[in-house]
Amino acid sequence: MPKQYAQLGGAPVLSRSLSVLLGHPDIDLGVVVIAEADRSLYDAAVLGAHAKLASPVLGGATRQRSVLNGLRALAPLAPSQVLIHDAARPFLTPDIVARVLAGLGRSPGAIAAVPLADTLKRAGPDRHIEATLDRAGLWRAQTPQGFRFEAILQAHEAALAAGRDLTDDAAVAEWAGIPVELVEGSEANFKLTTAEDLAMAARIIETAPAAPGEVRTGQGFDVHRFCAGDHVWLCGVRIPHGQALEGHSDADVGLHALTDALLGAIGDGDIGQHFPNTDPRWRGAASHVFLADAARRVRARGGTVSNVDVTLLCEAPKIAPYREPMRARIAEILKLDISRVAVKATTTEGLGFTGRREGIAAVATATVVLR
Ligand code: MG
Repeated sequence: MPKQYAQLGGAPVLSRSLSVLLGHPDIDLGVVVIAEADRSLYDAAVLGAHAKLASPVLGGATRQRSVLNGLRALAPLAPSQVLIHDAARPFLTPDIVARVLAGLGRSPGAIAAVPLADTLKRAGPDRHIEATLDRAGLWRAQTPQGFRFEAILQAHEAALAAGRDLTDDAAVAEWAGIPVELVEGSEANFKLTTAEDLAMAARIIETAPAAPGEVRTGQGFDVHRFCAGDHVWLCGVRIPHGQALEGHSDADVGLHALTDALLGAIGDGDIGQHFPNTDPRWRGAASHVFLADAARRVRARGGTVSNVDVTLLCEAPKIAPYREPMRARIAEILKLDISRVAVKATTTEGLGFTGRREGIAAVATATVVLR
């Protein structure tokens, strides 16, 4: 498999550098030049549309010809500048992109490069050293390589017409007389060429400290009034009681507040939006369906629930005997350890609608870590 589509720490190599480039605020559009045979690998790597990603362009027989195809595809948009990047350099960083763009503000061309650290030897055919070369002023060219768009397009067209085969775009620019500035790249921005490179990249990713997740909190509140009946549902547990709670679903005020807390943590609307009480499907529904759906939405955002905390406000029924079954049920619905689930209850000292035993209120909070 071409290195740019190989899996690296759970993501294709291409998707890593692409996300850095497309994520940069000064980059408006990206186009990937691909081999025709790699279309399905490309589709899998980019996972659908991105607002800044144009359709891929088919490459040519050489690197130079492939770049020219990419430039020609962009030409109708008349961009002022273009960065050309090797897809197989997954450790590109926003800093390097910023330095190339800054260099491009000063010069018609600017490329990422690193000064040569190793001493250079020239060997004869028998692999014996013939000379030690002066490395002063020597750099290794990396990518991105940035250029004023019209200049590099014309340089590539001219190089093609002249039958030149050059190894990188800076060489095309140099051949065409375009001044190119070297800006600081990074040793980490190496190109995956061999299987050994890929193995080294995998080790770098494995040993990199995991990015700290983004901690989110959400809160929920709900009230249901009492009506005639002989039991209530609270936090997923059926409790015999002289009254029931009125509602379109099973009126489980605790699970409703908790569902809203989870939705609140990821900014994804509320229970009434996802499960409108005008929809006959949810008439008499068991509320664990709502809570499980909110948990699914959290996971779909790459989130993990750290803990949840529910407080029920009522004079009756007595909650204490049901507290542990409630925690266990919530833990089961959310697939959490029970230590991450709290259920508490309080009266309101006879005050207000809960004090007058007109209904039950619940508040809940949830903490979610997004990665
Ligand atoms: Mg409700």
